[in-house]
Amino acid sequence: MKIKHLFIGLGIAAFVFSCSTNPFTGKKTMALVPNSQLFPTSFTQYNQFLTENKVITGTSDAKMIKRVGERIASASEKWLSANGYHGYLKDYKWEYNLVDDETVNAWCMPGGKIVFYTGILPIAKSEAGVAAIMGHEVAHALANHGQQRMSAGMLQQLGAVAGNIALQDESARNAFNQYYGVGSQVGVMLPFSRNHETEADKIGLYLMAIAGYNPNEAAELWKRMKANAGSGQAPPEILSTHPSNDSRIANLTALAPTAIAEAKKFGVTEFRD
Ligand SMILES: [Zn+2]
Repeated sequence: MKIKHLFIGLGIAAFVFSCSTNPFTGKKTMALVPNSQLFPTSFTQYNQFLTENKVITGTSDAKMIKRVGERIASASEKWLSANGYHGYLKDYKWEYNLVDDETVNAWCMPGGKIVFYTGILPIAKSEAGVAAIMGHEVAHALANHGQQRMSAGMLQQLGAVAGNIALQDESARNAFNQYYGVGSQVGVMLPFSRNHETEADKIGLYLMAIAGYNPNEAAELWKRMKANAGSGQAPPEILSTHPSNDSRIANLTALAPTAIAEAKKFGVTEFRD
């Protein structure tokens, strides 16, 4: 593999994983590429994506995406601080953009770089629907799911326990894109595992509720996703990485009261649809 020359061995004895604690599970998670390398790469790729795509500004939809984004970011900060993770988001540089593209997709790259495609807005349907999608995508980023997936993939490609991997040249950026799904030239973004999906659903639900959006709307959103997937049109891009199924919808419905209770801890008792 081309990626091999990126591998910087730390010496025979130093088979050391770079681990970080996941604030949502309390477990150590694998992070071969430290955030100090990952975030600058993410920011560069994000800016490049924006220059190559049509960013919509000034419309009510574009303003709504920013408004929801700011509320979800603020909810993330409050929730992490309340749970003892002060400073967890210190290197985040939140940004929320609406891109003119019929693809049914939305994503959040490492460090809080969010894109919504106009194609997902009819399925999101309402501001709470947008909040449900954004909460979920932000949750993947906060829990470093992409990082874990990329690290596992890199290990598989290397066929060895690696100590450190640099993200400096083109093949490394391609690996980054494969696991974070930026752009379409590089190939298909790999799906998240079911565990990661369940985790992101739960965190996302908390975030949307703390941000003041009705968490009952999350299950409604995934029902619409499912209906859209069966409508005979091309299936939504987001469903290739986030399969929608009945157990996910049932799980979100069951968790909604917990999210409302969580929001109450932050003084939030009214929720917009
Ligand atoms: Zn997901």
